[in-house]
Amino acid sequence: MKRLQRLRATAALRDLVSEVGFGRAQLVQPLFVVEGLSAPEAVPGLGDNHRLPLARLGERVARDLEAGVRQFMLFAVPAAKQAGGFDPAFAGRAIETVMARSGGRATLWVDTCLCSHTASGHCCLHDARGRQDLPGTLAELAKLARAYADAGADGIAPSDMNDGRVAHLRAALDAAGHGLVPIMSYSSKFASGFYGPFRVAADSAPQHGDRRGYQLDVRSARDAYAASVRCAEEGADLLMVKPGMSSIDLIAGIGARTGLPVGAYQVSGEYAGLTLLAREGLADFDAALLESWYVMRRAGAAFIVTYGARLAGALGLP
Ligand SMILES: [Zn+2]
Repeated sequence: MKRLQRLRATAALRDLVSEVGFGRAQLVQPLFVVEGLSAPEAVPGLGDNHRLPLARLGERVARDLEAGVRQFMLFAVPAAKQAGGFDPAFAGRAIETVMARSGGRATLWVDTCLCSHTASGHCCLHDARGRQDLPGTLAELAKLARAYADAGADGIAPSDMNDGRVAHLRAALDAAGHGLVPIMSYSSKFASGFYGPFRVAADSAPQHGDRRGYQLDVRSARDAYAASVRCAEEGADLLMVKPGMSSIDLIAGIGARTGLPVGAYQVSGEYAGLTLLAREGLADFDAALLESWYVMRRAGAAFIVTYGARLAGALGLP
């Protein structure tokens, strides 16, 4: 009799034939640092992920390193909200803080976008008539990316979804002597209902309209592939789908079309879904979190950005 169950009988047999294994080296831990805060602030649904004052960032990084985190994604939120002319100084201090603590043990990616800077909460600038100002947007993004690399960031992670930004950032980094600083592009990022807790964490809710003019429409895989292929052509080193769990159908196809590693961002609403289920007694959080990671790996994700990266060691990941 054909018994598929035979190889499921013991943990050792299941381990023997498992097709995906991964560990802390493939997980990226987000960090939120907010200018002007005096104490850490909880973010609804995100468990042990807080909005941190700069003075508390170093100790958080130290504890995360202790827990085996080896990749960070930094979101630096400046106090000033403006129409343009953004100041990268606060992010620069945060980058220097992380780099001083990590001492080369971790890789620091810095999320690069305008929505924590703009008074509008949008990821681009607008002209006086309310139209997207693409040249101005690209110039500001390049200025920020260059400043982050100057401050010591290991990698730049543009999350804005504006046309042409990867090519623009690559050229700017190269011209500034940062030819070896990689770009992890949020290359297929959808307009999504799963970003709620993040917008609280990063002060980045749009103050008018929405982001459907530049983020992807969930109904189109074609556009999602095209966006990642273009990022690859423009010089991205790593690609990403976002939200991760609801985009797993695209990961393998993007990898096949580009030949690049494709990661998945388990976004705030997806992660909060797990914490809230567990809070209601409707799920075993640890088991559900691991399951979600395994599924993204099974779908082909090279790496996973997740608010639970710092928990991975306690969950038994190598
Ligand atoms: Zn943005």
